[in-house]
Amino acid sequence: MRLSRFLLPILKENPKEAEIVSHRLMLRAGMMRQEAAGIYAWLPLGFRVLKKIEQIVREEQDRAGAIELLMPTLQLADLWRESGRYDAYGPEMLRIADRHKRELLYGPTNEEMITEIFRSYVKSYKGLPLNLYHIQWKFRDEQRPRFGVMRGREFLMKDAYSFDLDEAGARRSYNKMFVAYLRTFARMGLKAIPMRAETGPIGGDLSHEFIVLAETGESGVFCDREVLNLPVPGADTDYDGDLTPIIKQWTSVYAATEDVHDAARFEREVPEDRRVNTRGIEVGQIFYFGTKYSDSMKALVAGPDGVEVPIHGGSYGVGVSRLVGAIIEACHDDAGIKWPEAVAPFRVAILNLKQGASETDAACEQLYRELTAKGADVLYDDTDQRPGGKFATADLIGIPWQVMIGPRGLAEGKVELKQRGDGSREMLSLADVVVRLTAPH
Ligand code: ATP
Ligand code: MG
Repeated sequence: MRLSRFLLPILKENPKEAEIVSHRLMLRAGMMRQEAAGIYAWLPLGFRVLKKIEQIVREEQDRAGAIELLMPTLQLADLWRESGRYDAYGPEMLRIADRHKRELLYGPTNEEMITEIFRSYVKSYKGLPLNLYHIQWKFRDEQRPRFGVMRGREFLMKDAYSFDLDEAGARRSYNKMFVAYLRTFARMGLKAIPMRAETGPIGGDLSHEFIVLAETGESGVFCDREVLNLPVPGADTDYDGDLTPIIKQWTSVYAATEDVHDAARFEREVPEDRRVNTRGIEVGQIFYFGTKYSDSMKALVAGPDGVEVPIHGGSYGVGVSRLVGAIIEACHDDAGIKWPEAVAPFRVAILNLKQGASETDAACEQLYRELTAKGADVLYDDTDQRPGGKFATADLIGIPWQVMIGPRGLAEGKVELKQRGDGSREMLSLADVVVRLTAPH
């Protein structure tokens, strides 16, 4: 992508409305634009990050055996009357009427709809276990939308729903999602800690929130520092095998949200120098809720003995759009964002330090062509900004690899390669830059 032809509306000043660093940086880097309170347009740079996060979430759901579908944003009120949640949900639900005065709502979550789909097609235990997910926009009319995409009203969520014959099966499904979540967040460069959590209005008795530690987070949390050092399961994890050793390892170290925190146990189990009491950002949550929806909505399957029983369910959410902000909270410095490579909007930036000079233009064009041909995501800053402005832009928008091409280096056949993450710099030939940036990573 040539920056001169891209839409990147960088802000020079800090926007006053932004209270936390991720919100500030997303606005300054031209990633998104507020269209109404808690409702955002994703500008090209932000949209690229959102898509990368979404794709990692998808790949790990698929790896764990969940199956993707897509449900609509609008749902019939009558469906929610079946579960009793239409009235219970309260003012967070956006209620809409169509031209026939039929009552609809913009889905804040999808337990009812997925249960309705499930019960229409699956009648026997032979169709189990099943885990269906989608990645779709949700609407919750939050009382205090704030912090940009972290607490929006319209936001992108991955929500998965598992169906099992009994509690033992449901726990196996729960464990698969637990492991998938460990992998998902680690691939994005995040340490997201599974913490015991309250089950809230969804009900049930087993839940974990996945929390990224950050002072700006909205949840109070308590944990043993050791939990930060636990190993994340590899890509070769056998999801059909026994996952309980992994779950045991992760749940035997103390980690709880303040809602379910047990101070006595915390002090008993965690040595004083390992006690962490801080705040965190909830990037995902998993629930086992038993037969809550299958009872009220009559989602029954015939067991091996022919007797019909209500299925045991779980639901598993990831805040895809919230993650964009959460990653920035975890990865930034005074100059701007420091994207982990896996979610960076572009992996490489080429900075032409003397736009219009024939040697620098030719070298930049050549590198741009070669890298692009080899499949690298490259942003070529071919604008007529001064070098200082180009450095600032590349750092602000957080491009992991930056290649600076100027007349002084070129006179010696060299360009400068900078890593945004640690600020390290090297002088290399163009050919070596290509090798370095196209090596398997
Ligand atoms: P919170 O406690 O932050 O309000 P929640 O527990 O109500 O969230 P869930 O129903 O568990 O949310 O939704 C799954 C995920 O969706 C959450 O873990 C979070 O990452 C994300 N999410 C929830 N509400 C919002 C929101 N208003 N804006 C952005 N992301 C959200
Ligand atoms: Mg939650």
